[in-house]
Amino acid sequence: MRIIVVGGGIIGATTAHACLRHGHDVTLLEAGHELASVTSFANGGQIAVSESAPWSQPGMPMKMLMRSWRGDAPFRLRLRADPAQWRWLLAFLSNSRAGPHRAGKLRNLALARYSLACLHQTRAELGNDFSYDDRQKGILQLIPAAAQTHAMQRDVDEMAARGGSVSWLSPDETSDVEPALASAVARGLLAGAVWGQTDESGDARLFVARLVAQLTERYSDARFCVRCDTPITGLVKGDCDIRGVMSGEKYIEADRVILAAGLQTRDLLAPLGVRVPMYGVKGYSITIPLDDDISAPETSLTDLKNRLVMSRLGQRLRVAGFAEIGMRPDVEPVRVATMMTRIGELFPDLPLDGDLSPWVGFRPMTPDGAPLIGPVAGTKGLFMNTGHGPLGWTFSHGAAQIIADLVSGKTPSTEFQGFAPDRAMMATV
Ligand SMILES: Cc1cc2nc3c(=O)[nH]c(=O)nc-3n(C[C@H](O)[C@H](O)[C@H](O)COP(=O)(O)OP(=O)(O)OC[C@H]3O[C@@H](n4cnc5c(N)ncnc54)[C@H](O)[C@@H]3O)c2cc1C
Repeated sequence: MRIIVVGGGIIGATTAHACLRHGHDVTLLEAGHELASVTSFANGGQIAVSESAPWSQPGMPMKMLMRSWRGDAPFRLRLRADPAQWRWLLAFLSNSRAGPHRAGKLRNLALARYSLACLHQTRAELGNDFSYDDRQKGILQLIPAAAQTHAMQRDVDEMAARGGSVSWLSPDETSDVEPALASAVARGLLAGAVWGQTDESGDARLFVARLVAQLTERYSDARFCVRCDTPITGLVKGDCDIRGVMSGEKYIEADRVILAAGLQTRDLLAPLGVRVPMYGVKGYSITIPLDDDISAPETSLTDLKNRLVMSRLGQRLRVAGFAEIGMRPDVEPVRVATMMTRIGELFPDLPLDGDLSPWVGFRPMTPDGAPLIGPVAGTKGLFMNTGHGPLGWTFSHGAAQIIADLVSGKTPSTEFQGFAPDRAMMATV
């Protein structure tokens, strides 16, 4: 089959790869001048199976409101006269009840695990030379001194009981796993950590660039074609099935179309009368260049004090975080300063005076924290793979395999019904 994948972020690139593996001819169409130049550009780098629970959880709406006006608050909410924002917030509130959260946690954990297994297969297929500043050293969730840990302890026990590789570490054990934390431990800043041992990290943007370069080398133009600077402006539909897409005046024909355009998937589907319940939740990152002789963390970290994540990407340390709803897309200096202050506390030797490349991105979030993977109702042959929110890098490989199976008429070998686009749309209408 001839398949068009719209969107060249981490989701579009992995989807294209999975479809090629299924034997299809694939055209990957990207609006921007380069691949992975939007939300996949400078994310936190974590493949976070141990942190895959949805953000919609009991207590979260209150956390979003508390301290929302402060520059250092992990979550900030600005209400706008925007019906889409209100609809999304109401649905988020409804999904934050204990029952839906618990179901969502198990559903996301299964996808995250499946996705990690798919990533391992991809690495085996692409060979030992395939690298993307990746590290297989787990993720440490750093617990600040004097933090309340009951709920966390329960989550860790539950995940361990389900066969997850998570363990609770004392402060000394934490610095044994990550020696760069020794100074923070000695100064009493940490009460310990939760270690997700099988978690990983890596640069999603580099992954996309290198994956697509390999695929371009491996497949002929007829089998795999990538076109940047090609914004899709419309979907072409027959009586009830998809025929292709329009890029300006240009018609590009296909048997199947998969929309992996992140937040913009909403705009592409609106003319078909399909409302996609996704909202952009703003986050920040900075990237600290490292000298050879500097002691910087090798293990990926989630600092629970400000909910910042840190991933070592080669000779760089990526620091990312914050969740803002209803904010404009500019870089607020107070957010960058908050990240620098915390990094300075934990790692006083790290150089913070160079260019830190501050960046903001908008996570394409659904109200129940689960991606939208599957057919679009009402148009045969049209599919979507989007809405991965704060976990797009973590979920990408599994989501790609699921959508490629569904497009090929196969039953995915993992639970997939919970990600059907229909379920979320019905919940918010
Ligand atoms: C601060 C921050 C930190 C994060 N940290 C992590 C993390 O540590 N781990 C993790 O798993 N996830 C993380 N995420 C989430 C992750 O980055 C996203 O879920 C993921 O990048 C979404 O990928 P995507 O391909 O769906 O979207 P995008 O990367 O936005 O890609 C969509 C692409 O579609 C293209 N496009 C849009 N419209 C059209 C059109 N009409 N025609 C053609 N092309 C189009 C866009 O140009 C874009 O390139 C983080 C996000 C943020 C903001």
